[in-house]
Amino acid sequence: MTQKPATPFPELPAKPIPLQFQSTTFTALKPGPKLIVLGAVHGNEVSGSKAILKVIEEFKTGARFLQKGQVTFVPITNPLAFNKVQRNGDRNLNRNLTPTANPQDFEDHVGNWLAPLLHAHDVLLDIHSFAKGDRPFALFGPADNQGDLQPFAHARAERELAFRLGVDRFVDGWLETYARGVQTRLAYLKKTGLSGDGLSTDPRYGMGTTECMRAGGGYAVTLEVGQHEDPNGPAVAYKAIHNTLAHLGLIAADLPVPVTQYEQLTLEEVIDKHHVEDSFAKPYLSFDRLKKGDLIGVRKSGEEVRAPRDAVIVFPNPGAQAGQEWFYLATERPIPSIDG
Ligand SMILES: [Zn+2]
Repeated sequence: MTQKPATPFPELPAKPIPLQFQSTTFTALKPGPKLIVLGAVHGNEVSGSKAILKVIEEFKTGARFLQKGQVTFVPITNPLAFNKVQRNGDRNLNRNLTPTANPQDFEDHVGNWLAPLLHAHDVLLDIHSFAKGDRPFALFGPADNQGDLQPFAHARAERELAFRLGVDRFVDGWLETYARGVQTRLAYLKKTGLSGDGLSTDPRYGMGTTECMRAGGGYAVTLEVGQHEDPNGPAVAYKAIHNTLAHLGLIAADLPVPVTQYEQLTLEEVIDKHHVEDSFAKPYLSFDRLKKGDLIGVRKSGEEVRAPRDAVIVFPNPGAQAGQEWFYLATERPIPSIDG
């Protein structure tokens, strides 16, 4: 059931937009959940921005009505990256997202504004798009746990939302895998005596919007609506926003039906480049299947990198620098477990 917007999506604001932060909040008379929806956390991912601008207009004109709770929209979360039409302004906003007393780069300033705003809400829908891939998917967080890295108590609510966004592929395991990757990276630097200057060697560096939201006691889903330029991206984002508002009861609408046929992938391993000229054996796309022993790539040193088991390759990045994430390996799980 595709929710076709009745009117086209609004134009994005002309660039450059001023380097200041803007959100739009609607608050109902009745109390209820507080939702925040982000677009353009990465500056070249604007399908969500277009959908958000449209939904803001609908609330403003009364075409939609907030019956309880609160919703905050941020169409363009990183204005510097938006102006540059790039993923990053000075750096990736979706890493090391935490308030700092001594902001060094533009994204530090975004974090000082955004982290408290996230923490003032209960639920985050963060809308992205990807460079290469076949269809939309969503990422959600860990199972409920009381660990040090990422304690969490809302796994069920988070997955119930993810299953209603209108996508049928899900990925989890991000922060644990990232943190393990940092341990591997540190061990490699120690073994080789290389400097880790400029590299991410703090497991907390994996803290993006959704991790920040969970750290503040809320829950969060990342939606990847398709390729950056996919003309259908804004409609995918629009449907997901509508379904989220309906699912949380913020608007009076038919309750979205959870997806029952879907793919569930758990990230398990991240492999860094050792040298910038480490190269893939072929132009892999996210979610390509690998058989145990398949040649994934060859390092500058001549070392072959092969699939350690049957797996799925995710976020392959041929342009990664030495010491940065080259690709992730995920395993498909037939039945997701909410509790373990
Ligand atoms: Zn993104």
